[in-house]
This record gives sequence, structure tokens and C-alpha cells, in this order.
Amino acid sequence: MRTDSSASPSRLHPRPTVGVPLSFEVYPPRSAAREAALHETIRHLAAAGPQFISVTFGAGGSVGGRSLDVLRFIRDETAVEPLAHITCVGNTYAAATGLIREFLDAGILNFLALRGDPPEGADEGDSFLGDLQSAAELVQLIDRVQAAQAPYTEAGVPGLPGAAQLQRRLRAEIAVAAFPNGHPRSRHPNEHIDALLAKEAAGATLAITQLFFHADDYLSFVARSREAGVMMPILPGIMPITSPGRLRRVLELTGEERPRALAFALETESTAEGQAEVGIAHAADLAQAVLAGGAPGIHLYAFNEHDTVLAVLREAGIPTHSLQRNAPR
Ligand code: FAD
Repeated sequence: MRTDSSASPSRLHPRPTVGVPLSFEVYPPRSAAREAALHETIRHLAAAGPQFISVTFGAGGSVGGRSLDVLRFIRDETAVEPLAHITCVGNTYAAATGLIREFLDAGILNFLALRGDPPEGADEGDSFLGDLQSAAELVQLIDRVQAAQAPYTEAGVPGLPGAAQLQRRLRAEIAVAAFPNGHPRSRHPNEHIDALLAKEAAGATLAITQLFFHADDYLSFVARSREAGVMMPILPGIMPITSPGRLRRVLELTGEERPRALAFALETESTAEGQAEVGIAHAADLAQAVLAGGAPGIHLYAFNEHDTVLAVLREAGIPTHSLQRNAPR
């Protein structure tokens, strides 16, 4: 299986590093009280040396401003690249353009472009979307807005005071979502792979997967995507499932099939500690298996706490490193 990309190097591409390329996802805090705890978590995650930390948008009621606050914290307080999720939901072209500009003005240059899901309580169907109907359209819009905002940069010419030379612009890096087991709303089995191809053609340079429960779900999906012509790296998204309640919620949200062995193991543990151990061991096994199969790195859904995902990495034998550049300031 090929997991490299022939595209030019990108800030988001898993880079050769001391250990396995890592990244984490967090969400904006739901109250001021949780903000300090999230900052502490981000410091711990940053110390593990990830290539980026991504911040969700819209999901669970969060809006752009609250995502941006967290992204600014990552930018200012750690040396890790912040990556902003952004969705099509409810946006006119003008509103989406304004939002993208706001992120760019804040110095955020890495995006995960998403179609988004209907807000809670909204009708199914596409009326919730707005002018942009798919993530591929959003990828194009981000690229266009950034090109208009920063068509080029200038650099001094050594030995020629006052002279400047034009340099190619620093491009926005755009990641997109991928669905190893198909998107729940796909109309035919390959629609999600067609969508991934369209997103890459629109300018995406990295895909991050929805959670999955079996290594082969990811590995066979990558093989099918390569056969279809997808070139960009596909990072496996791994979520430690540490309680039966969390399993129920993620199954509702993602439409994934119930993993019977994991569900049984969680339900037969009577303590929260025992259930957490089951979830950590399952996620660690998954990480080891996808890496053995050629995955270019690991993206962990952190649920705004560091202990669990760092335990997954320890249990999987994946070294984390407090590189000076990533150490908490
Ligand atoms: P697209 O690429 O536009 O579509 C992907 C696939 O969805 C299509 O191929 C098709 O199979 C199916 N599909 C889309 N539209 C239709 C339709 N009208 N009819 C039938 N099938 C359709 N959501 C948030 O709101 N905020 C987040 O921060 C967020 N972060 C995410 C992070 C990751 C890594 C992933 C995997 C998902 C995330 N999501 C988030 C969820 C995502 O927005 C939804 O899964 C959404 O339904 C699809 O988004 P997309 O960008 O893949 O859409």
C-alpha cells in the first residue's frame, strides 16, 4: 500500500520526525470554567511534539469566535501549527469569505474544510447548508480568498538596501475529511471516494479520517482510494472509546456499525478505570496495526483531555518527545 504523496511538501504532511508523526483534535470549551483546563491540556498535547492541533467548528454548538480563541492560544502559547476546522453550514459566499478572512487575519493558515452537519434540531436535507454545497467548494473558496489576500510576499535582497524581491505566497494548507466506511448519507458505495478525489482536485493536500474500529477498515479504504487515484496522505483518525456511553454517542453521531467485541468488553467492566483501560488498549492496538500497515502518522481525537490520548501513545509504544520547540512556554 502506498501512503506517500507525490504532491509537493506541505506543512501538514506527516514529516519524518523522531517518532511517529502525531496530531490531535480538540473542541472549543463549552464554558469559561473549562477554558483554563483546555489550555492546560493543549500545553500537555503540544509537549508530545505533534505536527498540528486541530480545533473543531460548529459541532456541538461552537461558533467561529470560540474556535478562533483556541486557535490563537495554540499559535501564541505553543510552537505547534494550529489547524482550523471550518464548515459550509448556513454560510452565504459573502459570509464564508468573511469568516475565512478573519481566520487568515489571525495568522491561521491551516484549515480542515468540511461540509458540516445539520445543526441540532434542524431538518435533514441540504437546506441547512447555504451557498456552498460541498467541502470541495469550500476548499476552492479558501484557496481563492487566501490568494486574493496575499498574492505574494516580499523579501529583502542581500547587499541591496531598499530593494525587494517577490516571493511565492505562503499558501493556505487545506485538509479534508475522509470516511473509511463510507459517509452515512452516501448514495452509492464509492461516493465518498469520488468526493475525496474532488476535494483533492480542488486543492486539498491531506485527508483525515472519521473514527473507525478495525484496522482493516482504514487499510482497505486507503488501498481503494489509491486505486481510484487519490494521492494525498490519509491520516487515520483514532478515538479512544472509554465508556459504553461514549460508544453510544459516537455511534449515533457517525452512523458507524457497533463494534461488538469492544462494546462487550466495555460493558463487562464495572469501574470507570477498567473501562478506560479497555478503550486505551483498543485505541493503542488500532494505532499499532495501522502504522504496521503503512499509515503516515496518527491523528487522535483528544476530547479535551490529554491523559487518555497520551496513555494510548504510551501503550502503543509510540514515543512522544518534549522537543524544545514544542515545550509549553
Ligand atoms: P463532503 O466532502 O462535501 O461530502 C462527503 C460525502 O458525504 C459525500 O461523498 C457523500 O457521500 C456524503 N454526502 C454529502 N452530502 C450529501 C448529500 N446531500 N446527499 C447524500 N450524500 C451526501 N463537522 C462539523 O460540523 N464540525 C467539525 O469541526 C467537524 N470536524 C470533522 C473532522 C473530521 C476528521 C471528520 C471526518 C468529520 C468532521 N465533521 C465536522 C463532520 C462532517 O462535517 C460531516 O461528516 C459531513 O456530513 C460531511 O462532511 P465532508 O466535509 O466530508 O463533506
